[in-house]
Amino acid sequence: MLNWDQTPELSAMRCCRAWVEIDLGAVDHNVRQLVAHLQGRADLMAVVKADAYGHGAVTVAQTTLAAGAKQLGVATVPEGMELRQAGIDAPILIMGAVNTVAEIQAMAQWRLQPTLVSPKQALIVSETLSRGPGTSLPVHLKLDTGMSRLGFPWQRAVELMTFVQRLPHLHIASLYSHLATADDPDPTVLKVQHQRFESAIAQLTAAGHHPPRLHLANSAATLAHPELHYDRVRVGLALYGLYPAPHLRSTLDLRPVMQVKARITHLQEIGAGTGVSYGHRFVADRPMRIAVVGIGYADGVPRALSNQMTVLINGYRVRQLGTITMDQLMLDVSALPNLQVGDLVTVLGREGDVQITADDWADQVNTISWEILCSFKHRLPRIVVGQTLSQASEARFS
Ligand SMILES: *Cc1c(COP(=O)(O)O)cnc(C)c1O
Repeated sequence: MLNWDQTPELSAMRCCRAWVEIDLGAVDHNVRQLVAHLQGRADLMAVVKADAYGHGAVTVAQTTLAAGAKQLGVATVPEGMELRQAGIDAPILIMGAVNTVAEIQAMAQWRLQPTLVSPKQALIVSETLSRGPGTSLPVHLKLDTGMSRLGFPWQRAVELMTFVQRLPHLHIASLYSHLATADDPDPTVLKVQHQRFESAIAQLTAAGHHPPRLHLANSAATLAHPELHYDRVRVGLALYGLYPAPHLRSTLDLRPVMQVKARITHLQEIGAGTGVSYGHRFVADRPMRIAVVGIGYADGVPRALSNQMTVLINGYRVRQLGTITMDQLMLDVSALPNLQVGDLVTVLGREGDVQITADDWADQVNTISWEILCSFKHRLPRIVVGQTLSQASEARFS
């Protein structure tokens, strides 16, 4: 990976071709909205897996913690290590299943908290910790209540809890589960999962266990179902200013954090009948002025948007032409005769009153906004904008 921050020549080239703008003020705003919505009854865990959904894990994590998040959630051990190596001290939950000695030793070394999904896995973690540095770790038991991904069957919660309690080096810090349909306006499945989670808690209490901290809600359930907040909510998408589903747009005022910008790298006139880009999937029906922009599918623009997308230039919507290539795409700028090489193009984001959102793209290419955001985590440099006063002062004290 290119290190845009620490190589001076690269740093100077950040805004030459194409880049991602991350508005930390929007992260701060979104976290404060969420914390207020929780009314002090539940903690916010900021989910910053997959490099904070393409937004930059370290800066986003620091901003969420300064704005009131109490824990961080990631998917893998390396993701947790990245946060610790940046000096972040908050509790970090690894939400994926960890089974190998190398992962468990790293968790002990970096104080990362595992998710336990079976007695067998719990035993491996406990034995590895016993053989290694002898450190104890807070662990989080995960039940499957209907997602059929990670988790121990909810009917057998007592078995898992009893087993883990007897193992050395493990402290049960929470019990959790994950919802499969929280973004669906139809709550049928969600209610079943809620009842199963409640039933598992009742069984644990009846067996004499003191129920640990409980959590179930992702962004959608956090916005739509306060009855599912329990002690903690695990919020990803909403931190980044997107709504998990259209019917949730009225719940909180969330602001998109990511914008994708690029520059015009070349301009040319083409005659009627001229084909544009691979496969000539666009052919000009009249003389046109076209602009080339230095961003393509390797940067995160879905190739499936070819011939369908628009971008913003000077507040106007401009049509994209032909196949989107790996590093470049073409635009019809016939209506904007004064454009020059170097002029700014908003590929994703807002100019004045017009905006193009990750939801727009997701609808067009039949995916979800989560995947659109994550596709911008590899190639483009990130520019952080809009740091708030509160973060500046927090940063000085940390
Ligand atoms: C990714 C993830 C979340 C966050 O989901 P959003 O819908 O983005 O809020 C919460 N819990 C688990 C277990 C996850 O894997």
